[in-house]
Amino acid sequence: MINQKSVQLGSVRSVIRELFEYGKKRKAQIGEENVFDFSLGNPSVPAPAAVQSALKDIISSCDPVELNGYTSAQGDLEVRKAVADYINKNFSVGISADNIYMTCGAAASLCIILNALLNKGDEVITIAPYFPEYRVFTEHAGGKLVPVAGKEGTFQPDIPSIMAAITPATKAVLINSPNNPSGVVYSEEAIKEICKVLQEFKERGQTIYLISDEPYRELVFGGVNVPYIMNYYAESIVCYSFSKSLSLPGERIGYIAVNPAAQNAGEVYAAVCGAGRALGYVCAPSLFQKLIARVIGTTSDVSVYERNRDVLSAALASYGYEVVRPDGAFYLFVKSLEPDSDAFAERAKQHELLIVSAKSFGVEGYVRISYCVSPQMIERSLPAFEALAKSYGIKSA
Ligand code: PLP
Repeated sequence: MINQKSVQLGSVRSVIRELFEYGKKRKAQIGEENVFDFSLGNPSVPAPAAVQSALKDIISSCDPVELNGYTSAQGDLEVRKAVADYINKNFSVGISADNIYMTCGAAASLCIILNALLNKGDEVITIAPYFPEYRVFTEHAGGKLVPVAGKEGTFQPDIPSIMAAITPATKAVLINSPNNPSGVVYSEEAIKEICKVLQEFKERGQTIYLISDEPYRELVFGGVNVPYIMNYYAESIVCYSFSKSLSLPGERIGYIAVNPAAQNAGEVYAAVCGAGRALGYVCAPSLFQKLIARVIGTTSDVSVYERNRDVLSAALASYGYEVVRPDGAFYLFVKSLEPDSDAFAERAKQHELLIVSAKSFGVEGYVRISYCVSPQMIERSLPAFEALAKSYGIKSA
């Protein structure tokens, strides 16, 4: 018999993918412009012009064999140096190329780091709402995901809940800010408090790693600061991806950065290389590694997302929805108009609104709206959101 866990994982689509597939069918039936598909987190803004021109330049100037050849398993040295220089310029953490491992995006970064750190039965605490794949990645690495609720309404980390969830088996705390699905940016105060707790455990002899999953770091609005965890806690690792910041989700490029200040940074990095090897995640796409060395620091035009956020959150609030104000990413977290968010998301379909129930993100009573869509679609969708609220007897302000 083949591996039944894998069969099951491969046979059941995620709620998000299910909704996206439904949307494709519905668009074919009633026309693309009549379906308001807020299901996926696929960037709607093109990659910056600098990406196009750097790619053209690399293709025309690079030796053709080198262009498409393997790099070192952990990534090209010059590329890793460029990434380290960028991190040092912005966050002054004294990181070097030997702390950087190039990966196929954040998903690969997470799988590698979890396989690098976890022994069978180790626990990973995360804060709900959280990216549903965390459970898949953690369990595949032999661990157990332990979600703890964020603070109701703000979805900031709740320190007493995190403390209560720590056991002798806790190996890591996994955070994601700006957050998918809430769009919330964790405050510096919350980060400091988490790090203080972890430092106390470290001093008592239990090292708990802090993993920060950061595909949305640059997608912030109004100058909000996203604290860089290496500046707060030595035993920390950043899982980064260019999927959203450069609108390159299909190109599969990102990196893992191990804090050089970690007590056993060399061993952690060796484990990252070992896990990358065992999983077959070696030599991230070499053309896109070369691209990153040239364009790191460039970001897609996030003003489009900011405008979408402003228009959608103001309109929904005026129709009577309770909206969690997001400072980043491209997701709006909205309170469901009935206790069962699955039923609410289902009812939204009657208005051709495709929004994701937050149950799979570990939270009851909310839905996620991905507003990485065209501003025109946002405008067209507003009467449908208003009609949905009215169908629950809620009057516009
Ligand atoms: N982590 C979070 C929170 C995400 O939202 C995503 C993708 O949407 C990922 C990781 C995976 O990112 P990537 O496409 O870079 O693998």
